Amino acid sequence: MSPSFPRPFAYEGARLLCSGSSLEALAAEHGTPLYVYSADAIRERAGMLQAGLADVPHTICYAVKANSALAIVQMLGEMGCGFDIVSGGELERVRRACPEALGRVVFSGVGKQVWELDAALEAGILLFNVEGEGELELLSSRAVALGKTARMALRVNPDVFAETHPYISTGLSDHKFGIAIAKAREVYRRAMTLPGLDPAGVSVHIGSQIRSTEPFATSVERVGQLVAELRADGMDIRYVDAGGGLGVEYGQVPWDPAASVQAYATAVTGAARGLGAHLLLEPGRFFVAQAGALLTRVLYVKQNGAKTFVITDAGMNDLIRPSLYQAHHEIWPVVRSGRSEQTVDIVGPVCESGDFFARDRAIERVGPGDLVAILDAGAYGMSLSSHYNTRVRPAEVMVDGDKARVIRRRETFEDLFAPEVV
Ligand SMILES: *Cc1c(COP(=O)(O)O)cnc(C)c1O
Repeated sequence: MSPSFPRPFAYEGARLLCSGSSLEALAAEHGTPLYVYSADAIRERAGMLQAGLADVPHTICYAVKANSALAIVQMLGEMGCGFDIVSGGELERVRRACPEALGRVVFSGVGKQVWELDAALEAGILLFNVEGEGELELLSSRAVALGKTARMALRVNPDVFAETHPYISTGLSDHKFGIAIAKAREVYRRAMTLPGLDPAGVSVHIGSQIRSTEPFATSVERVGQLVAELRADGMDIRYVDAGGGLGVEYGQVPWDPAASVQAYATAVTGAARGLGAHLLLEPGRFFVAQAGALLTRVLYVKQNGAKTFVITDAGMNDLIRPSLYQAHHEIWPVVRSGRSEQTVDIVGPVCESGDFFARDRAIERVGPGDLVAILDAGAYGMSLSSHYNTRVRPAEVMVDGDKARVIRRRETFEDLFAPEVV
């Protein structure tokens, strides 16, 4: 295994490449901060999961919120993927990038509004993942009003503990998501009596960045028991949606994603196979996290007290994961200089002490003008970006084969100020 495995970012001599393309050249052409993604890396991950599920009827519904770029939605749609959406805006992304995939959309989220339900009913999506009784009533009335039948599942809360960051753990009974599994049978019975609803599935999603397969297996087993009960109650349950959450290795530890997918597929299919149901999965991070990096240029290096700060032109508005989740990202020089290592804080220009990418990190000594790559930034990077400090969002480039193309241009002040009125 090469030191960068399983990332598409690797050194050739002193220079860091993305699937063979020079990051130095991309930064020179498109400026920084710049998101760079490898199309091959995304396709490879999607292919791994498709292969792992080959012997069970399934649809992979990529979680659009992980990275919502139209180009990525289109690419995965063309591979046969469906989509997990959490808003009317994400539905619109699927419509624009890959309208033929609208029938493979599942709609999750605790706060769906009337216009969003209506748009999804009109689009004829595959499944509504209903997260509460109020939503159930509303979905029924909107389906009746539009003369549609809504295929739906309840998102049940299996009360499984998945060891991850508290902000991204969702499967415990005291989280805002879903309906307690113990109460689900009763709510499904209510769904059966409401017009315009077709209770067709059961859904779970226990959290994100989950590295062990046990919680997945346990939650699908619990779903299996519920499916049996619902069928006994006369419901035609055809879908089991096992959610997303498969994690990646953000550190330096060698890690084989293919083995990880295999273990995950075994865990979810093992429990689902006996049910004779169509399996739905909602991976986000696993497909895109390691396919992307954020390139940034060092502006200044300064000493305050005992600390050395490397100040970059990217900030927390471009990539918030370190600030929000204390997430670790590897940060590598784009051109290795062979200088000695120095322990530094790598920080952005935003006026917040929480604006950092790494603290007390030993990296090869860098100076003003040098480029560094913040790795594994393909998921929950650009999609969580903001204009905070009135900063335009970075451009995004997709490396595909020996070509690199801009999939989102850098924003301009015109883009930024267009909605405002004085
Ligand atoms: C965020 C989310 C996902 C994707 O999670 P990953 O950890 O990126 O795989 C899937 N399903 C639902 C309902 C989500 O909210």
